[in-house]
Amino acid sequence: MKDAKVRLYVDHPLGDGQTIPLERDQAHYLFGVMRLAIGAHILLFNSKDGEWRAEVTQAGKRGGELNCVSRTKPLQMPPDLWLLFAPIKKARTDFIVEKAAEMGAARIMPVQTDFTNSDRIRQDRLQAHAVEAAEQCGGTYVPEVTDLQKLDRVLADWPEDRELMFCDEAEAGAAKALMDVTGKSWAILIGPEGGFSPAERARLHAHRQAHVVSLGPRILRADTAAVAAMTLWQQKLGDW
Ligand code: SAH
Repeated sequence: MKDAKVRLYVDHPLGDGQTIPLERDQAHYLFGVMRLAIGAHILLFNSKDGEWRAEVTQAGKRGGELNCVSRTKPLQMPPDLWLLFAPIKKARTDFIVEKAAEMGAARIMPVQTDFTNSDRIRQDRLQAHAVEAAEQCGGTYVPEVTDLQKLDRVLADWPEDRELMFCDEAEAGAAKALMDVTGKSWAILIGPEGGFSPAERARLHAHRQAHVVSLGPRILRADTAAVAAMTLWQQKLGDW
């Protein structure tokens, strides 16, 4: 079997004999950047049909075509875990989205808290980071990155069947580890560099499904905290 070094997310059905037309950007990447030619093999996934080996059947500057050859992996859904985080500086926000996609978040939700600096995000850019992360980590599913929402609003509509791992910097050093509540949907909440406001903290402590968790004796930066929290959650309740 030929080597298939490139992995690509496509928004197109994949299956036996399926043909996938390529858009300009994809053609540029495959044939301009990666220098693939007709007959080359690549791996495709679309968040629905698993991973498929495909062959290049047409290669042009502005387009091209791929043909599915065989399925190489079944669809593997991540655990039902959302990551809620307050966006911080651009590069660090990008990092959080990339790491969350690699670590198996099913949904990535930027939230605006009282001390969040930015009131806008580039949802499309963040979604593209999630796609790239899934492409490189071998995942068959791309988590949705939602648009920025107010934390208050999200908490007001909180689903009854979802537990919330509330990472509260005020608990740094306290012995508050994640409890073993298996078989449930979960979300992790990470605050901004400025932390949570007293009002938010009061509301979250009173929240029925919130589990207040400490990430250790040191105050972590928000991007570190996101990775640490996902690791702890995965270790206790995740898919490994
Ligand atoms: N400026 C704040 C720190 C914010 S850290 C202060 O000095 O207190 C950013 C986010 O990371 C926090 O809102 C929290 O969600 C998480 N975090 C960082 N360290 C943590 C810890 N030791 N325990 C729990 N959460 C932590």
